[in-house]
Amino acid sequence: MVEMTTPETKITLGNAGYVELLEVFGSDLTVVNAARVSFAKESHEFSEQDGKLVKYLAKHNHISPFFHPQIHMRIKMPIFVAREWFRHQIGFARNEVSRRYVDTPPECYIPTPENIRARDPKLKQGSKSEPVAEAERVHAIVKEITEESMGVYDSLLKSGVAPEIARMVLPQSMYTEFVETGSLAAYARLCNLRLDPTAQKEIREYADAVVKLLEPRFPVSWKALIHTPPE
Ligand SMILES: Cc1cc2nc3c(=O)[nH]c(=O)nc-3n(C[C@H](O)[C@H](O)[C@H](O)COP(=O)(O)OP(=O)(O)OC[C@H]3O[C@@H](n4cnc5c(N)ncnc54)[C@H](O)[C@@H]3O)c2cc1C
Repeated sequence: MVEMTTPETKITLGNAGYVELLEVFGSDLTVVNAARVSFAKESHEFSEQDGKLVKYLAKHNHISPFFHPQIHMRIKMPIFVAREWFRHQIGFARNEVSRRYVDTPPECYIPTPENIRARDPKLKQGSKSEPVAEAERVHAIVKEITEESMGVYDSLLKSGVAPEIARMVLPQSMYTEFVETGSLAAYARLCNLRLDPTAQKEIREYADAVVKLLEPRFPVSWKALIHTPPE
């Protein structure tokens, strides 16, 4: 008997981040039927012919059938990653927590010593994969300064400063949380760009989490759309 495994719905990252799949509309069949409507045809069960059609559509950039499946996620990531993530706009809708209204204790991403990567003098941007010398000591400094800014934030609130002003002392490593709805095509575009080795490791990890959540749900379309395999 073939054992059925339920695909995972939440992947945790860093010390407090995650990507959680809340809802999915559609499947590979949705893509096929969006394309087949041109000929007033419809498939009821995904066939080998349908698989060929999906590959053809992706290969020839007939992308609109991939706009129909929609994915709704809840994501928590550091602000410096979200700055990059939010550059992907077409095909996405987002709503984010506001630190004007919320003054619960902030959480910050603190890279492990292995992730305090050294600068690569050969690259204009990016880093080596190895950590900087004395990574443990640098990690302790990062942790201390992060905790200090959270302490200052807390003391500003206690002195009556409005959260919208107090938040200015918080670091870019602070986690932000948002809900996001995007089409299958939009997620594939984002992943193709952000799985590339030239993208920052921290955003690659979030893109890789999206792959793990979407690939089992859209196996044929995902394979056809994705150029860069996850590392
Ligand atoms: C490795 C890497 C490094 C990067 N470095 C930088 C950087 O240093 N500085 C920086 O500012 N950005 C940087 N970016 C961001 C990059 O320039 C894009 O903004 C980001 O990748 C989103 O691209 P997108 O195609 O998904 O954009 P979206 O805005 O989601 O657009 C999707 C697609 O819609 C079409 N489109 C969107 N807007 C227009 C338009 N105005 N006219 C015509 N067609 C349009 C294009 O086909 C586009 O590809 C970097 C991205 C990566 C992956």
